[in-house]
Amino acid sequence: MTDDALTLTRELITRRSLTPDDAGCQALIAEKLEHAGFTCHHLRFRGVDNLWAVAGDDDGPLFCFAGHTDVVPPGDAAAWRHGPFEAVIDNDRLYGRGAADMKSGVAAMVTAACRFRMENPKHRGRIALLLTSDEEGPAIDGTRAVIDWLSQHDTQIDYCLIGEPTADQILGDTIKTGRRGSLNAHITVDGHQGHVAYPQTADNALHRLISLLNELVETTWDDGDELFPPTSFQASNITAGTGAENVIPGRASANCNWRFNTAWSAAALREYVAQLCKARHIDPDGIEWRTSGEPFATRTGALVEATKTAVHGHTGLHPTLSTGGGTSDARYIAPTGAETVEIGPVNATIHQLDEHIAGSDPAQLAAIYNDVLSALLAE
Ligand SMILES: [Zn+2]
Repeated sequence: MTDDALTLTRELITRRSLTPDDAGCQALIAEKLEHAGFTCHHLRFRGVDNLWAVAGDDDGPLFCFAGHTDVVPPGDAAAWRHGPFEAVIDNDRLYGRGAADMKSGVAAMVTAACRFRMENPKHRGRIALLLTSDEEGPAIDGTRAVIDWLSQHDTQIDYCLIGEPTADQILGDTIKTGRRGSLNAHITVDGHQGHVAYPQTADNALHRLISLLNELVETTWDDGDELFPPTSFQASNITAGTGAENVIPGRASANCNWRFNTAWSAAALREYVAQLCKARHIDPDGIEWRTSGEPFATRTGALVEATKTAVHGHTGLHPTLSTGGGTSDARYIAPTGAETVEIGPVNATIHQLDEHIAGSDPAQLAAIYNDVLSALLAE
């Protein structure tokens, strides 16, 4: 393998693409893809640049590489060992904002897609790239909007590989095949304020809130499974009282969060909590809910198997299948029914000063991605 992927990673790092500014990353990528026969659709939604590039025939599956060209701000640039947008290689490490998250992954996806097209001009199905410049921000007009656009054009992704940084220690040790859901609740309980010496004339809102929280803390939600840890509940804030020792609080509130697996949905959790509220004469309408994401998982399938085999072939490692870590745009792609896998470089320095990867990572990733394409689309 050549160093095409490393060169492209460095070219992308030198473009200051702070969310949602793409800074020309997608134009550079589109030029390379068009040389390899891709048709590029530049989809700009409310100031966010997105790229949908596709090549091949619809006589087989649609394989999509997905990712983002935007990066988070560097912080104090002077505190970096090397300038965050200079893409310096030092001691076999490539430094720069986005080196790991995720310009190396993007460069490797582009390199693999182009190389595979050149070497397999009669491959089955289609190869696509879905890139956005709004993953690190609100993520409203990015991948989510492109997915809506695709569904309006009757386009269904069968396999989706996302080159986000997934490795803990060394490239290939971990791939992600799903994510837990996250649900937030702000609970407000109303009672009636009064004197602590005359409880019969008051209604202590704090006592009823504590009873509810205690039940939630004591609940065993599920046991988890081979891919997910058990669903967990955490209370993070509680507010009640006037500050005086002799006043029964008339209102009490709490913030809490569930991290939940596929045994639950946000709607099922809300309904369960509503029943607990009713048993305590707490109005469930006093709860403000916010769903950060529903859980999803690809438990097995051709893409997962091809990825495990390709990783082992190039690294000798048997990757751990994980559902941990923060969200990614997989949350918008997996629910369409696409088999979805994330595999990328080590995530130890993402969003930090001195973000870096091993200089050999882009080429090694491109080789892994190329093998995955071969397994799924070779004629
Ligand atoms: Zn990322």
